[in-house]
Amino acid sequence: MTTDKALVLVIEDEAPIRHFLRAFLESQGFRFLEAQTGEEGLGLAASHQPDVILLDLGLPGLDGLDVIRRIRQWTPTPILVLSARGKEKDKIDALDAGADDYLTKPFGVGELAARMRVALRHTTGGATEKPEPVFRVGGLVVDLAARRVRLAGAEVHLTPIEFKLLAYLVRHAGKVVTHGQLLKEVWGSVRGDQAHYPRIYVHQLRHKIEPDPARPRFLRTETGIGYRLEEADVPGPDPGPGPGPDTGVDSVGNSAQQSEK
Ligand code: CA
Repeated sequence: MTTDKALVLVIEDEAPIRHFLRAFLESQGFRFLEAQTGEEGLGLAASHQPDVILLDLGLPGLDGLDVIRRIRQWTPTPILVLSARGKEKDKIDALDAGADDYLTKPFGVGELAARMRVALRHTTGGATEKPEPVFRVGGLVVDLAARRVRLAGAEVHLTPIEFKLLAYLVRHAGKVVTHGQLLKEVWGSVRGDQAHYPRIYVHQLRHKIEPDPARPRFLRTETGIGYRLEEADVPGPDPGPGPGPDTGVDSVGNSAQQSEK
């Protein structure tokens, strides 16, 4: 991948997880820095300017959320939160505080690699506004500039708000977006009485863009948090008479486990 030699800062108080991350990330060609506390992590972030930060929320001393807020005061470096299962409120707060994504412990290396790839893609593609490419995943094609959506070659007609919602998801493809982010960015709202809008419109959208709306392939629910649109297919040479459609499996080499959901 193009991320070799990227510098990763891990802020995590549990030694076994740090060791696991070090072994995996170094095997993938990343440079690795580690901190055991939030304070130490802030110092290293400032002095070494990592390309991506993996942050445990449950830290002794300075809390993970405060670490995010402080880092966000001066840099947009991607922050992936490492979170114990079942703490959805923590994840939402972290994402709303400026984290880019989260991994639920325990997580597999395939999942970690995928999240890192998305984070780094958003970094390297980031600041400059490029012309928007045509987004493709499976049979779904979204042309943001032309405002056209096709599913398996057939034109899909979206209402303006559905298109706005889909466009936001496309721009954040591969990343989780919270209900709160959607409300703010799509509806420009922070009103509590509109909190159900994302759920309703996602439901409508799925009926238009999913081959099987009851079992969404593209627009996934992140239970209790929000939604995640699948990453775009990796553009490549013309598919030719190959073995067929994208399998959705990471190209990072670890064929083994797809992460458990
Ligand atoms: Ca911890």
